[in-house]
Amino acid sequence: ARAQAMQIDGSPDVSYDDIGGLDEQIREVREAVEEPLLNAEQFREVGIDPPSGVLLHGPPGTGKTMLAKAVANQTDATFIKMAGSELVRKFIGEGAKLVRDLFELAAEREPAIIFIDEIDALASKRTDSKTSGDAEVQRTMMQLLSEMDGFDDRGEIRIIAATNRFDMLDRAILRPGRFDRLIEVPEPDAEGRERILEIHTREMNLADSVDLGDIAGETEGMTGAELESLTTEAGMFAIRDSRTEVTESDFQDAIEKIQEAEEDSVGTPV
Ligand code: ATP
Repeated sequence: ARAQAMQIDGSPDVSYDDIGGLDEQIREVREAVEEPLLNAEQFREVGIDPPSGVLLHGPPGTGKTMLAKAVANQTDATFIKMAGSELVRKFIGEGAKLVRDLFELAAEREPAIIFIDEIDALASKRTDSKTSGDAEVQRTMMQLLSEMDGFDDRGEIRIIAATNRFDMLDRAILRPGRFDRLIEVPEPDAEGRERILEIHTREMNLADSVDLGDIAGETEGMTGAELESLTTEAGMFAIRDSRTEVTESDFQDAIEKIQEAEEDSVGTPV
């Protein structure tokens, strides 16, 4: 069960070129994670510590996991992913043990990048911190922070966390020496959407009528993940029509379908 809670990827196949509209975020991740891994000696000579942990925050499906994978790929580091919700779902005592295992594994496989998704599950502001479940979550978080403190002796391990709920986070984890480098990963603007559409249509057989700039203009509010499914949907419309070329009107149909699906889900009780 422990092995299932962690996902290990020796060499993720995501590169910076696969990420659209996040040039500034890529630059920041390279500086905070890639540089310290590749040029540890330089940091030592200058006499500064690199950022302890990097926190990526922004809406779901905007490319946070991609950023973490791309930096692992670029540095030939093992990518080890764990979801915060997994860590807290375990039995009493198990969460802290999982965190220890996580760092042990990273030490065995270094250079390694530990990616903790949904860190808010471990470190959210709570109104009632007296219940035992919360105490257990607290212990897991403390274990994580103490493992991070032991970093210097651990060599080439970097830690990246991600959250969709920055406002819910317990500010204590943002203190210096903890997740002290924040990188916001927002919804893409029109230019970013066009870039993302270009990336996800690289292998598609597009008709000349398709203008990705126009489609970007019509898809305000869509994230990278949604734009990716838009391109797949457009391809599906072509297939239904027994064509091998994807046209402008396939994209229009796909936009309509996705927007309808969204309208249907708005107001649905959770
Ligand atoms: P979550 O918070 O839900 O985990 P996330 O921000 O980590 O989301 P990713 O898992 O990185 O999102 O993105 C999901 C998928 O959406 C990616 O595999 C990719 O295909 C597509 N995608 C998202 N953002 C981008 C982007 N900026 N450029 C290209 N593709 C993207």
